[in-house]
Amino acid sequence: MPAPWIDISRPVQPGMAVWPGDPATRFERVQDLAKGDACTVTRLSMCVHAATHLDAPSHFLPDGKDMTAMPIETGIGRARVIGIENAKAVTAAELAGHGVRKGERLLFQTANSQRLAAPGPFAEDFVSIAEDAARYLAEKRVRLIGVDYLSVGGFHDDGAATHRILLEAGIWLLEGLDLSGLSPGPVELVCLPLRLVGTEGAPARAVARQLARRDRRA
Ligand SMILES: [Zn+2]
Repeated sequence: MPAPWIDISRPVQPGMAVWPGDPATRFERVQDLAKGDACTVTRLSMCVHAATHLDAPSHFLPDGKDMTAMPIETGIGRARVIGIENAKAVTAAELAGHGVRKGERLLFQTANSQRLAAPGPFAEDFVSIAEDAARYLAEKRVRLIGVDYLSVGGFHDDGAATHRILLEAGIWLLEGLDLSGLSPGPVELVCLPLRLVGTEGAPARAVARQLARRDRRA
């Protein structure tokens, strides 16, 4: 019996935390059965970098590709949840012990998954990917990286550098995951971003299920 699918995307709703300065998420009833209209219709207004979403190269690279360039297989297939012990950052030193391989989809389960799984205000001190780890992952040429808060890069320091290094290496970035329901080890991932044309990111639904652990290094 395969393990059950777990929703690892975050609910999209007004009031959810967004990156400081980004527009808030709004639902607006433009027609409403309760007000005598023939049906109910909602207008959605949100930043493409809110909740669970992907970053395309054009997010930080002037000539980078947009969301339509993402191969559909990038978000579908075997992935690996790596439990990160460092409570401040994902570092190259810690990743070096995990045998990262070319083409892998890696999901970093950090302290964010426990501390920030519940809805709350934006947390500036979330665990992010340090610049040296970004270079390490770029060198390894992984396919996709998933993180359990709104950005791969930190709020105070190397946010832009981390993004640039990873995006220049052709790595797709899956941000804003809730990985609290998974254990470190192999999983099957299905993640499909909205098919937005010309944008540098897109909201996504992501689900995963645990696979039998064959690799003890996970
Ligand atoms: Zn983003």
